[in-house]
Amino acid sequence: MVAGQFPKHPQVGLLPEAARNAIEVVGNVLPFKANNYVVDELIDWSNYENDPIFNLIFPNRDMLLPGHYQEMEAALQTGDRNHAKAVSHQIRLQLNPHPAAQVELNVPSIDGVKLTGIQHKYRETLLFFPSSGQTCHSYCTFCFRWPQFVGMNEIKFAMRETELLVRYLEAHQEVTDILFTGGDPMIMKFEVFKQYIAPFLDRKNKTNIQSIRIGTKSLGFWPYKFTMDEEADKFLELFEEIVKSGINLAFMAHFNHPSELRTPAVHEAIRRLRNTGLQIRTQSPLLRHINDDPIVWAEMWREQVNQNCIPYYMFIARNTGAKHYFEVPLVRAWQIFREAYQQVSGLCRTVRGPSMSATPGKIQILGEASVGEEKVLALRFLQARNPNWVGRPFFAKFDKTASWLTDLSPAFDEEFFYAAELREMYAEAMLNQANTNAIIN
Ligand SMILES: *Cc1c(COP(=O)(O)O)cnc(C)c1O
Ligand code: SF4
Repeated sequence: MVAGQFPKHPQVGLLPEAARNAIEVVGNVLPFKANNYVVDELIDWSNYENDPIFNLIFPNRDMLLPGHYQEMEAALQTGDRNHAKAVSHQIRLQLNPHPAAQVELNVPSIDGVKLTGIQHKYRETLLFFPSSGQTCHSYCTFCFRWPQFVGMNEIKFAMRETELLVRYLEAHQEVTDILFTGGDPMIMKFEVFKQYIAPFLDRKNKTNIQSIRIGTKSLGFWPYKFTMDEEADKFLELFEEIVKSGINLAFMAHFNHPSELRTPAVHEAIRRLRNTGLQIRTQSPLLRHINDDPIVWAEMWREQVNQNCIPYYMFIARNTGAKHYFEVPLVRAWQIFREAYQQVSGLCRTVRGPSMSATPGKIQILGEASVGEEKVLALRFLQARNPNWVGRPFFAKFDKTASWLTDLSPAFDEEFFYAAELREMYAEAMLNQANTNAIIN
């Protein structure tokens, strides 16, 4: 089941015509993909409209703005495929396909060559997008990686050469962590995945990598990867080998709802993975229609800790794609976080958030406060382009409706304390980019 193709699963055939039409229309703009595990084991079809996993996977009419919906529907009705494609492309460009200046600011270069499969935003941690991991077992309707799945090649991060990666890491000893991401790196076949990991196992190279993280939704969407798949045992053996080599190996597991943690398959997968010695840390954005309820989060964290997983981040949904459908105002997000956090024991409180991955860094909403007469929102960086920004509280004017950093204004100053430095970084990046292009041309 992929973008633009109508899903053939019998459950989907039983949906009312309007719902099926909406899947088709919206699926032509936002990528759509589902697998049998998700459809058969995670969705309650008797109440599909309110089912969080249904909304996580299946597009519905409200995920496009009414104008975009009508445009796409009309284009499909003409029966002209090229026209429909062009309309879909136009709409996508209006959905902020590349939030948080990822292209301009985060892509490094070596010897004047851009390493488009890498993002280096925070000093210690490098994001690596292996080219064979740029798809997923199923697609989430909220996903900010969606441009990678729909063939918008000009913004597709992919890198074929692990060699270049190692060279970069050798030249950057400050990088201790590498985070394999995608899509989902756990979509890869074993032999391909192994190619990427191999350089870190033999210690011949001179990188300073101490932790390998794998950002993955496989436990939520395809736990069989580690239980009954043909290659499950090979993956587990490799994980064990990585751990034994002295590298800290962590699964950054994406779970959006506690129901993903309740099947026998996911229990077994987590148990087998933990047996290799790797850690499982968990994260999710806060999403309206899916998990905008403190009880859901408290249950999710408890369920995770009970299965020996470590809650890590609660994110604010990014300002991209079907943002209007999923967004939760920052103040409400903080209330949900706090109400959930109050209900759980200290073991669950390893989680941090709610956090926005914005252009300057990961900004946590600490909450509402009063300074003198003024009501403010207290914020702080959990992670920043300049490590020096981290951990320092700063204040925005209180705003009940703001849903992203760009909606906020500073409480006491002309601009936020990091603004001038960020502008300098931007200017420098633009200059470097110009130089890089000059060398390639
Ligand atoms: C979140 C993130 C990381 C990892 O940050 P940690 O705080 O170490 O988990 C690295 N790079 C980017 C671009 C990120 O958004
Ligand atoms: S699993 Fe992650 S990368 Fe894949 S579609 Fe869902 S949110 Fe996006």
